[in-house]
Amino acid sequence: LLGIGEAVGMLTTAIPLMISAQQAHARLRAFLDEPVPRQEDPDAVAIERLSGEIVFENVHFSYDGETSTLAGLNFRIQPGQRVALVGPSGCGKSTALSLLMRFSSALDGRVLLDGTDIAHIREDSLRANVGVVLQNALLFDATIGENILAGQPEADDDAVIAAAKAAGIHEAILTKPQGYDTPVTQAAGALSGGERQRIAVARALLRQAPILLLDEATSALDPASEQVVNGSVAALAPACTVVSVTHRLASVVDYDLILVLQDGRLVETGRHDDLLAQGGLYSQLWTRQQGMATAVSEERSGPLIT
Ligand code: ADP
Ligand code: MG
Repeated sequence: LLGIGEAVGMLTTAIPLMISAQQAHARLRAFLDEPVPRQEDPDAVAIERLSGEIVFENVHFSYDGETSTLAGLNFRIQPGQRVALVGPSGCGKSTALSLLMRFSSALDGRVLLDGTDIAHIREDSLRANVGVVLQNALLFDATIGENILAGQPEADDDAVIAAAKAAGIHEAILTKPQGYDTPVTQAAGALSGGERQRIAVARALLRQAPILLLDEATSALDPASEQVVNGSVAALAPACTVVSVTHRLASVVDYDLILVLQDGRLVETGRHDDLLAQGGLYSQLWTRQQGMATAVSEERSGPLIT
């Protein structure tokens, strides 16, 4: 779904020639024709460029009409803030992001972007203003270069390369037999999960949308690559509001705001140090992860010592 939103502009835009424009167009068509078009609200408003304020106002959501997945979620994110959404597995983090992408709609309450109910924003405006990287990076049947270019079809080669560098994937791309022209499908076995994730990150960085949503976007990366991506995401401020779902708390210690969810509600909020001082759920999760990190490094260093 991610790629669909991000690639949507390509239908109306000339595609720089890495393969023939016709071929690329045909591939994108095939890709974009898959989803069922959404019924657009005739009164929906167009928004040129959001400043990036996000408000969840008493948001309720359920997948089955019985179990409450989001149970009155409230929070406010200021434009340009880098915000982490954390909490135990199943607490509703990805669901909250899916409401921001409007893959789902609130049953009660409102999600507001710059004060406008997301339900009343035109689809094309939403797509233009929200960039996304999901855990299972969605790449489409085209070259690596085209997959990055989908983020902003008018971008030139230098911008594509800069985005790839920012995502820490440029060097790895150059080692591929055809570099940026390497087909993603043919290279399916050759592209690691981490490489696919970084290609998706490069696409999102190239997009320069005022809101960037990341759902475990660095989960498959080694620590060094993760650091490169985190540095690039940090550098997006203040032009971009970043909402990052992650279970790796160590990667969000310098975030402007951490929202801690449990059972579909906000239970704690603050910066890393504040949350540790509160000694609540975040502090417990942190302690548990520190313990796990120590155990892993001891395990790893074991064979080296003997
Ligand atoms: P998190 O991202 O915090 O791990 P999710 O938002 O993915 O949690 O899921 C929250 C709850 O909703 C979980 O109990 C999960 O099983 C359930 N859930 C998630 N996606 C679906 C779905 N498509 N259909 C039904 N239940 C779902
Ligand atoms: Mg999730």
